[in-house]
Amino acid sequence: MTVRAQGFKKNRACRYCGATTLDLVLSLGEQPPSNSFLRADQVAGEARYPLDVYRCERCALVQLLDVVPAETIFDDYVYLSSTSKALVQHYGRLAEILTGRFGFRAGDAVVDIGCNDGVLLKGYTQPGLVRIGVEPSKVAEVASAAGFTVFRGFFGPALARDIVEKHGPAKVVTATNVFAHVDAIGNFVDGLRPLLGHDGVFVIEAPYLLDMVEQTLFDTIYHEHLCYLSLTPLVPFLARHGLEVFDVERVPFGASGPAIRVFVQPVEAGRLVGSSVKQMLDDEACWGVDRPEPYRGFARAVEQVRSGVLDILARLKEEGASIGGYGAPAKGNTLLNFLGLTPAIIESIAETNAWKQGLLTPGSHIPIVSEEEFLHRMPDYALLLSWNYLDFFLD
Ligand SMILES: [Zn+2]
Repeated sequence: MTVRAQGFKKNRACRYCGATTLDLVLSLGEQPPSNSFLRADQVAGEARYPLDVYRCERCALVQLLDVVPAETIFDDYVYLSSTSKALVQHYGRLAEILTGRFGFRAGDAVVDIGCNDGVLLKGYTQPGLVRIGVEPSKVAEVASAAGFTVFRGFFGPALARDIVEKHGPAKVVTATNVFAHVDAIGNFVDGLRPLLGHDGVFVIEAPYLLDMVEQTLFDTIYHEHLCYLSLTPLVPFLARHGLEVFDVERVPFGASGPAIRVFVQPVEAGRLVGSSVKQMLDDEACWGVDRPEPYRGFARAVEQVRSGVLDILARLKEEGASIGGYGAPAKGNTLLNFLGLTPAIIESIAETNAWKQGLLTPGSHIPIVSEEEFLHRMPDYALLLSWNYLDFFLD
């Protein structure tokens, strides 16, 4: 029996343009939400949802249509960004860049949507800056305790009005690893106009579709990530909401691997639109972002990864080796579930985040243990599930 939580829905139209001509690009099977780590007594009631990726044939947006109720994903959300040294560094640097580029004055407000525990807000060190976070999950309490002004809820026009009433429009609004997670994205964007005033800047950072396809990063696909961003569908979508992309860059290391950073302004703000925008649109057209071929190649490459990894694991098992996993990020679960791995193959997974220790991975039900316990068990091989931190392991 397939368990589904109340509120699950399948969209019939593109999230950006409303077209109903949607092409199935890749199916990763039915999976539980990637962040739903669970106790042994919760296994029987575990819900699963299709993890299928579609491409809009009209605007080229790559997206999931199956929407897991946000409450299901966020209620037990246990990820604290500040537990990752890599993320603290990354967001610290981003706050520095934004401070340098947009020149804050005392009393200015900055807003981080999806602020988690305040990891990006901490990076703004200029005195007198009003640092505001928006966060729907209970992690909001951690950000509040750290001294930030936190609005708990999902961002939209109502929450934006609340912020503006209390603190005025924001100089810079960031949404890192958030923008592609929102189903009712039109409503989200409608909140930006009032919040940005006449010349505020909105910064999106999100995994970049072209990197995902070219590097076969299919484990960045999970139910929370409803869209896989490229610039081509984003520019006209934002334009319909009175917003203009004025700069864009590729970032080698984001929260979920390689990313793009998109700088957006209200159309009347009038900052010059950089050549980076046309350049990226041209590059994407040349790459074939609006054609089926790159995605067919992606689906074939994903199949090859599956059979390749399964072959290696089967050979190691035949040799009598014990195998563990290292790191239990959300995306590790896409890989574990797509490959059909179980505790019979991966005995346990080491994870530094104490909230996850003692729980099982969603779908695959592999026990999560502390690093100390992992070292005590000492499997012969470990499958690295946090590949985007590989550089830090190597350092
Ligand atoms: Zn579309």
